[in-house]
Amino acid sequence: MKKWLMLALICLLALCASAAAEERLSIVATDFPCYDFARQVAQDRGEVTLLIHPGVEVHAYEPSPADILAISRADLFVYIGGEGDAWADSILAGLDGEDAPAALRMMDAVALLEEEGEDEGGHEGPEYDEHIWTSPVNAQAMVRALSDALCAVDAANGEAYRSNADAYIARIAEIDAAIAETVEGAARRKLVFADRFPFLYFVRAYGLEYEAAFPSCTADTEPTPQTIMGLIRTIAAEDIPAVYTIELSTQAVARTVAEETGVEILTLHSLQTVTQDEFDAGESYVSIMWKNVEALKEGLR
Ligand SMILES: [Zn+2]
Repeated sequence: MKKWLMLALICLLALCASAAAEERLSIVATDFPCYDFARQVAQDRGEVTLLIHPGVEVHAYEPSPADILAISRADLFVYIGGEGDAWADSILAGLDGEDAPAALRMMDAVALLEEEGEDEGGHEGPEYDEHIWTSPVNAQAMVRALSDALCAVDAANGEAYRSNADAYIARIAEIDAAIAETVEGAARRKLVFADRFPFLYFVRAYGLEYEAAFPSCTADTEPTPQTIMGLIRTIAAEDIPAVYTIELSTQAVARTVAEETGVEILTLHSLQTVTQDEFDAGESYVSIMWKNVEALKEGLR
């Protein structure tokens, strides 16, 4: 009798375990910010897949057939909706009816800014900068949007998603406040980037000024000597203490500028790509942004 009871109990436990596994939502995210926000809001109710693997340059990524299959099978697909994942809209358009996952396009969740810098022409209408998450103000709206999307897909757990989102938004709000305070008490407003510039939303959110070697995030060519000389002149004229690069940079231009001016090189992490090491170490939007706060304090002295 005891044996029989034990067996029944084991069967029951196994059933519960498999039911719990099936209940986990499958969430597919294109880049790191979408991935991080999804895992923070879903916690153990979701299995989140990052399509653009750590270390892979976002702007060079192309989805594999396996990626497309993963998107079609997802309960929720989260993407930015800019140039970096422009392929996503065409995949979604190609998946009709039952094959199409619920989709959250993050550029619909925030107020967009037009790309600055050189315009090659030929565009129809405005080109919007896609690096929306670099502003912690936008990041909070993105987390809220993710919570809303998960609530729509899985209403039964809505309360949990909302409370997870509230907690993460509160942590991002602390960063927002720290940056605002840093800028408020800073000796200067200008950042010099000897690199690509994915921080338009960041600088606009806090009333910062910038000068960059490359307009926006594209760097198909070397900057002109005039551009580099311009950065060097600005640093000298305004007594700026640092020159900035972004993550995964060759730092070639930054080294030239630093050697010429004697200032230090600082990294502001745009979060569009994390390294495998950062990923394995469990870095998040919040942990990386706090490092950016420190780098900002250094550069605004
Ligand atoms: Zn970019």
